[in-house]
Formats: sequence, C-alpha cells, structure tokens
Amino acid sequence: MSHIRPLERIVTGHPATDGAGVRLTRVIGTPECRHLDPFLMLDEFKSDREDDYIAGFPEHPHRGFETVTYLLAGRVRHADSVGNRGLLGPGAVQWMTAGRGIIHSEMPEREQGLLWGYQLWVNLPSHLKMSAPRYQDIPAERIPAVQDQGWRARVISGELQGVAGPAQSVTGILYLDVALEPGMRFELPLADALRVLVFAVEGEVASAASSGFPRLRVHQLGVFGQGETLALRGGERGGRVLVLAGRPLDEPIVQYGPFVMNSPEEIQQAILDYQRGVLDRV
Ligand code: MN
Repeated sequence: MSHIRPLERIVTGHPATDGAGVRLTRVIGTPECRHLDPFLMLDEFKSDREDDYIAGFPEHPHRGFETVTYLLAGRVRHADSVGNRGLLGPGAVQWMTAGRGIIHSEMPEREQGLLWGYQLWVNLPSHLKMSAPRYQDIPAERIPAVQDQGWRARVISGELQGVAGPAQSVTGILYLDVALEPGMRFELPLADALRVLVFAVEGEVASAASSGFPRLRVHQLGVFGQGETLALRGGERGGRVLVLAGRPLDEPIVQYGPFVMNSPEEIQQAILDYQRGVLDRV
C-alpha cells in the first residue's frame, strides 16, 4: 500500500483586481500565500457581468517565468510584441513561456454570457529565465480526456495513465482538470519530491487520506504533504478540481509585478530593458 499524501494546508482565494480592472479571485500570490514553489500565482476569473472583465489585460510585459491560461467559458484574444496572435475559446489552453521577455495583451471578447478561466504562473529555473519566448496555443479538441470508474480527467500537461497532455512544459509540470462523481475516488502516483496542489473549481472534494475531512470547497486550494500517491474523493454532489504538480526550484524568488527573477539586480535590468524597449530583444 503506497503512502497517501496528507492534505496539509488549505488556502482560500480572495477577491482582487488586476489588469485594467478585471475582478478575479487570487489564490496564490497574496500576502498570506506569496508562492508555492514552483508556482507563483493562481487566479480565477469567473463572471457573467461584462463590467467585471471587459477592460482585460492591455499591453504588459513579462520576464522570467511562464503564464498558463486555461479557459472554460468565453473567449480571450491575445497579441504580442514578437508577432504571435491567437484566440482562446472554451476548453483551450495557452502556455506562454515569457523567458527573457515578451510584451502582450490578453483581452476578453465582448460576448453574451460567462467568462471563466484560470491563469497560473510557473517559475523558470535561473538558467532558463533568459531563454527565447514561446507560445503554445492549444485548442480544446487537442486536450485528451482519460476516463475511469467515477472520474474523468483532461490532461493539459504531463501524463495520466499513459496519456500525455499536449502542452510542453519547460519544467515538467503536471496540469489536470479532474471531475469526480459523488463519493468516487481518484488516485494518482506522484514522485515524493513534487509539490502537489489541488484547486476546487466546482463542488467539493475530500482528501481520501482521512475519513471525509478536511474537504476542499470552491475557491479553496489544497496543499498536499509528502507521499507517493494523491488520493481524492468526490463530495456529496461530486467535485471538479485542477491538479497541479511540479518540482520546487529552491532558488531565490525576487518579484516585481510581471518580472520574476533571482536577484534585485536582475529585476533592475528587466525594468531598464523594458523602459528602453528592448525587453524582448536582449
Ligand atoms: Mn500576461
């Protein structure tokens, strides 16, 4: 019997505003949870009120990490300083490696109904922070689903039961969207060294390591402790979670807004490069 990872900490998301006035729920990247190495930020945006999101994220820079956008409803158009253009639809993923730098815009389309999605920031190790930027636009139909008794998972990156996700992650991040039926169990072996996080997006899930408690409810992130297996059970009405796993980098993190480097000097350089208009050309 493999050792099941305990649920060690629950982080609850808080309302925040970012971009040009987008209302969102910030889960990682707050004063109470600055980062969970190698994850730097996790935001949920979910609203059917256009005023909450239409201002979007006009032109802004990034350096030193990756931004991963997973859209569940609505559309987001992006454009960047090196010529990439794209339109994310429901179920699509954009995996953007900022590397040494990119300036881009992420703008929700004016549409009826719901905009719902997630943005995750994944840190890059020091030797890759200044690598060339890269975009991966992955439409919904390219994301495979794996189904077993009582659960169904979409594999965005990494591997589940021999099925590999289409997103090429620089640091081997596992990113799954898992729906569990009421009371049903989902198990996944994961190397002990990995940081394992589970974010509840719908319903409830319980850690299968204990008898029903503690539970993760919507907008709660579970931080799992050491072990060989992640084991979850769907709540009374089932639940849907994002499962994230990655190897901690164990490097100094110095963040200034959209720049995440290892030292204050590197941050100064990023600001200077941005001001000189050479962020993506150094
Ligand atoms: Mn951005």
